[in-house]
Order: sequence, then structure tokens, then C-alpha cells
Amino acid sequence: MVTDEEGRPPRYVDKFLAEDVFLDDEYDEAGEDDEDGEYDEDDEAGEERDEPPPRPPSGPQTSVAPRTHPCWSCAADVPSGTSACPECQESVRHLRLISTRPPVHLRHGSCGPLNLGRHPSWAAPAVAAALDGERGVSRRHASIEMAPDGGLWLTEHPAGTMNGTFVNGERVPPGDRVPVADGDTVRLGTYCAFTVLVVEEPPA
Ligand SMILES: [Zn+2]
Repeated sequence: MVTDEEGRPPRYVDKFLAEDVFLDDEYDEAGEDDEDGEYDEDDEAGEERDEPPPRPPSGPQTSVAPRTHPCWSCAADVPSGTSACPECQESVRHLRLISTRPPVHLRHGSCGPLNLGRHPSWAAPAVAAALDGERGVSRRHASIEMAPDGGLWLTEHPAGTMNGTFVNGERVPPGDRVPVADGDTVRLGTYCAFTVLVVEEPPA
């Protein structure tokens, strides 16, 4: 019998003379598919397969870390798609209040109302300090909050204000809870106007 260098019959013997000895799926005629439907060059060359062929990289999830973005409040990594920061629990969705007079940029999440006024123990100290020079802004002027359902609400302090509170130019009655939307302008008194922006998630 003809044998190869290792003393075995050549591969064609597998197929036609000794099918009961050799596993049939180790042999393929050139160009013929495996049983699993994949054409394999090793089969054509007639070599033994000690190990399965290496698998190609299977998609981006094995080589790219899950996408995260920094928390707007504490800068911790927040996985994309989550609604709250795992570190500080602040909602990913948050408000930005931007004013050019005074030049103020406030950020606020869903943890209670944001008080706007000049009183340093009613409003947050940084807010009170920023509004301190604004004579048209009362010490306790108005609050804005993002409800758990995502709705935005503005309330002028129930005691009222000297110069009023306005949403897109329309005066808000003291103590009334009025809806606010992304892009609205909230004005405290005559000059101090904030643009309200809702930020869903930083872009990638
Ligand atoms: Zn955070």
C-alpha cells in the first residue's frame, strides 16, 4: 500500500478504501464544502487538524470598551443608556440655565427644586452670589424643578416678587406651578433672563 511519510495511507485512500477507519469529515475533495458548510483549505491540503482554526474577531464588543460619558455633576463615568449616575445618583437628563446678565450657567438634575434668588440660605450660595448684584431679582424669587416624570415646572415664590417672574414674556402668578419647556426663556424681574435647556446625554 502507498503511504505518506508518517506511514498512513494518502488521503484519497480515506475516501475510497478505508472510510471505516478515518473520519470522513476530515477529507474533502478540492472545492467541496464541509458538512458545516465552510470551505477549509486545510482539508484540501490533506493535513491533520489538531486544533480548530482560529476564530476571526467577533465584532466590536470584544475590542472596544462600553461607551461611557462623564457625569455632569460629579464627573464619574456613566455607562451610556443609564438614566442616573451610579456615583452621585443624579439624573443623566438635566437642566442648563444660561443667562448673559448676569453671566451665569447653572446645571440642575432631578434632585429637588433649584431655588433662584439672592438669599444665600434659600438659594444655593453660588446662585445667590451670582444674582447678588441683580436688583430686579428678589431674595426668594422662583424655583424650577424637573419632576421624576421629566416635566419641568417653574414656581414663583408664594410670597410674590417685586418685579415678577415671566416665561417667554408671560407673567407667572405667585405660587402657581407653571410648565416650562426646553428652549423657554425664564425672566426674573426686568433684566435677568435665563434660557432653559434640557440636556439628555452628552454626544459621543
Ligand atoms: Zn455623578
